Amino acid sequence: MSRDATRRKVNLILNCGSSSVKYKVFVSGAETCLARGVVEKVGSPQAIVRHCDRAGEKDREVADIKNHKQAIQTVLSFLISGGQAIIQEKSQIKAVGHRVVHGGKYSQPVVITKEVKKYLQDVTFELAPLHNPYNFEGIEAVEQVLPGVPNVAVFDTAFHQTLPDYAYMYGIPYRFFKKHLIRKYGFHGTSHQFVSSVASRLLKKRISELKIITVHLGNGSSLAAIKNGKCVDTSMGFTPLEGVMMGTRSGDIDPAAVLHLMMAEELGIHETDTILNKQSGLLGVSGTSNDMREILKSMKSGDARAALAFNMFCYRVKKYIGSYLAVLNGADAIVFTAGIGENSAKTREEILKNAENLGIIIDVRKNRTVKPEKPALISGKNSKVAVFVIPTNEELMISKIMDKINLRHR
Ligand code: ADP
Repeated sequence: MSRDATRRKVNLILNCGSSSVKYKVFVSGAETCLARGVVEKVGSPQAIVRHCDRAGEKDREVADIKNHKQAIQTVLSFLISGGQAIIQEKSQIKAVGHRVVHGGKYSQPVVITKEVKKYLQDVTFELAPLHNPYNFEGIEAVEQVLPGVPNVAVFDTAFHQTLPDYAYMYGIPYRFFKKHLIRKYGFHGTSHQFVSSVASRLLKKRISELKIITVHLGNGSSLAAIKNGKCVDTSMGFTPLEGVMMGTRSGDIDPAAVLHLMMAEELGIHETDTILNKQSGLLGVSGTSNDMREILKSMKSGDARAALAFNMFCYRVKKYIGSYLAVLNGADAIVFTAGIGENSAKTREEILKNAENLGIIIDVRKNRTVKPEKPALISGKNSKVAVFVIPTNEELMISKIMDKINLRHR
């Protein structure tokens, strides 16, 4: 253990899913990531812990981990003891940041209090039943394992709370908004916020002077229109199903087509939900895979359905970019991020080809030589709009937010 390890304060960032706990540890007040890892198959006697320290040294353990509390205890044991320890005692953890999918009304990160917990349980569990209960379990586990250490919830929806009402409302009877909180919330907010802030740094301009379209293309995909640092529109909606076509999600579809399908195939609500969320998108159209790498491979070997899926994917992203150019009255920058956005030159090229009249010109050579995990400018000299590839880092964003927040507000 280094001498630093005995003194430094760290932020622990957790992303708790139904059967996994992902974590990263940053030095408080800095961007240095000291460790990261994941506990998979939580709830099983064969849970797997993968831990990676700053030098890239990896450690792996198979253990009987019954719940999130035990998972977090195991993570702490990696951080505090053993060959790759980065701190000496629990008290060096200044705060724990939780990625929470749905924040309901919250437009800012919050320090967890009894009131916040009650709101999360009463309101957001219903809005995001597949995510928020597990995020919440992580918060309660930390309260038990690290008593006295502040917990901060950073919501995927928060960055989008600045949308104007005419952008977030749906054209259905107003009473459903009042009664069931049906409106657009948007997701991936921390990622959109992070990459737009990096773009502003790269452009050497204040975010308050910029208009940016962020394009997060992963298994789940979404776009955001950001004006002067504030999000004014985003493609995901009440749930992450709305918007562009994704790995397994349909994205935008005429709701009447869904009703028709339910009748014609005699489908129940859960079956329909599974079809739209898990069997559609790249997977549903290609019939082979939800993974863009596989789609690209199949397309190369002449698979017409894979080519159709790829073309639909790119076309739909392009349409959203076009609509956000209209919303923003032009943009200073377009930013690609996440698995596909960062790694697939072909997808970026296809999305932005033939857009010269919109002031967007890709430099094909630059686009094809982007280095993994490094920000890159891929637009040509004559492009009015700067086009970037910027690796997302939601955990770093959460850690930076935690450095700014007043942790005593409890
Ligand atoms: P998640 O939404 O699960 O966080 P990611 O951001 O990790 O997803 O993105 C996963 C997607 O990124 C997958 O479709 C995967 O195929 C795609 N991807 C990763 N690397 C590449 C690559 N080199 N080329 C094309 N697609 C890639």
